[in-house]
Amino acid sequence: MTKHVLMVGAGLSGAVIGRMLAEAGHRVTVRDARGHIAGNCHTERDAGSDVMVHVYGPHIFHTDDAEVWDYVNRFETFQPYKNRVKTTSQGAVYSLPVNLHTINQFFGQTLRPDEARAFLESKADTSITDPQTFEDQALRFVGPQLYEAFFKGYTIKQWGCSPRDLPASILKRLPVRFNYDDNYFFHKFQGMPENGYTAMVDRILDHANITVELNRPVTRDEAAGFDHVFYAGPIDGWFDYRLGRLGYRTLDFERFEHQGDWQGCAVMNYGDVEVPYTRITEHKHFAPWESHEGSVLYREFSRACGPDDIPYYPIRQVAEKTLLAEYVDLARAEANVTFVGRLGTYRYLDMDVTIREALDCGRAFLAAQESGGAMPAFTVNPL
Ligand SMILES: Cc1cc2nc3c(=O)[nH]c(=O)nc-3n(C[C@H](O)[C@H](O)[C@H](O)COP(=O)(O)OP(=O)(O)OC[C@H]3O[C@@H](n4cnc5c(N)ncnc54)[C@H](O)[C@@H]3O)c2cc1C
Repeated sequence: MTKHVLMVGAGLSGAVIGRMLAEAGHRVTVRDARGHIAGNCHTERDAGSDVMVHVYGPHIFHTDDAEVWDYVNRFETFQPYKNRVKTTSQGAVYSLPVNLHTINQFFGQTLRPDEARAFLESKADTSITDPQTFEDQALRFVGPQLYEAFFKGYTIKQWGCSPRDLPASILKRLPVRFNYDDNYFFHKFQGMPENGYTAMVDRILDHANITVELNRPVTRDEAAGFDHVFYAGPIDGWFDYRLGRLGYRTLDFERFEHQGDWQGCAVMNYGDVEVPYTRITEHKHFAPWESHEGSVLYREFSRACGPDDIPYYPIRQVAEKTLLAEYVDLARAEANVTFVGRLGTYRYLDMDVTIREALDCGRAFLAAQESGGAMPAFTVNPL
């Protein structure tokens, strides 16, 4: 039987689930509070320079998931793109993630891989046997000099707290490569949508059974008019923040323009704590197949998220997880609502994971329709 389904949010989560349900014959209404589709992946051409701007910060597509890669390529052509990040620290420019080039340049050495391994082991603080904090973990892995130059300042700025107050789990593996590979990601498939993410999402939403309504914030009261709701907004927002607000970091982007090439790369991090921003992104370098004389850049600042700010990074420390568990209980008691995506489940999700979860969620809904079973509040556990 055909259902009328509401997708709250026209980002990747809402678009991918909506498309699957529309193709299965259901009627889908997609509403977004913003005046554009594609959520935080939204891209638009700058009127002056024609540069494709990643409006909510730079987005690079990378995945090992062949089905997800095929999915995005069905709706948009992807150009090859490798993310190569630089950092300015203590008056010099280095390559990230910390690799053999970074180590040799930083210490004025010409070490080969095995020599560099032994060298770093000699710098590491081996008195730390059971690292509990981010700082302990970094000191244990790389020692004080690399920690100060590449991890400490950036982390303080990004999270607004001392690395001593962050869990060791943030820095799970040895964050160093003993070769000259400076490709930021390991994934098999990496690329950039030729016409931007918004063009891709526009095609995903382009289906006769889908209606898109923008500038249309949705409240819990409106759910009653639909057979089912997929909610990609903030889980605490659905309940009008009645138990309090889940903590996020937000970002401020200070935009500036330039004629020519301002920094010679897409992403330049700033490791020193005295520099108030975490990085500068030069958007035309995210599309190296294009050529533009003008340039658009963002200085990126991170700070605590207030009630009127855009929530970017969930904090997910002990206090937040306790509050999240209470909201999850409320969510599980709702009828005909499924919480999805980065805000609905209060997790940081890369785009490929978002799409993978959305495909699985859409399939779960179709299977529930087939079997007559109930659709759960979550198809992934947010806790
Ligand atoms: C700074 C930053 C950089 C990133 N870079 C990368 C990257 O390089 N590579 C990568 O793979 N991933 C990256 N990501 C992750 C990527 O942004 C997410 O995977 C993706 O946006 C998740 O899509 P979503 O649909 O779940 O959420 P969103 O894109 O946030 O979409 C949710 C939508 O719901 C709408 N909404 C919320 N509440 C309501 C309401 N009550 N009523 C109506 N509409 C509502 C919002 O307006 C929004 O448009 C980055 C994320 C951030 C924060």
